[in-house]
Amino acid sequence: MTSAAYDDNNIFAKILRGEIPSHRVYEDDHTVAFMDVMPQAPGHVLVVPKAPSRNILDADPAALSQAIAVVQKIANAVQDAFDADGVFVCQFNEPAAGQTVFHLHFHVIPRHDGVALKPHSGTMEDGAVLAANAEKIRAELA
Ligand code: 5GP
Repeated sequence: MTSAAYDDNNIFAKILRGEIPSHRVYEDDHTVAFMDVMPQAPGHVLVVPKAPSRNILDADPAALSQAIAVVQKIANAVQDAFDADGVFVCQFNEPAAGQTVFHLHFHVIPRHDGVALKPHSGTMEDGAVLAANAEKIRAELA
């Protein structure tokens, strides 16, 4: 079965165009990374290719390889910034798999032994907390 078409009114397309704000931690020619507003753990980052695709199923392989290199960079940064024991990387394709925003993105989430993840798309985090966590990650990337 083929996926639905890409819709450039999705929330991440608006963030990429700067029409709505985000706490950006990284940007290059192909990829942006910003804080998830409903983090499953402190330091939860979304890595988002600039190229339009709905998810991994319709993505250009070149955009995927550029994005995964940024995922690695961000994973190392969040592990150090949050003194994490590990880093969870995940990515959902279509609603049946849990996808809620239809522009390709990778979740990068620091994990600590014995600490459960909060629910996916659960509670909005305070803006000041997101700003402070973004700053910690930018400091690691600098
Ligand atoms: P998905 O279910 O599509 O993999 O995940 C979408 C993610 O985007 C969720 O973790 C959710 O918390 C996050 N999210 C939803 N709306 C916004 C938003 O407006 N800004 C940011 N930064 N994250 C969002």
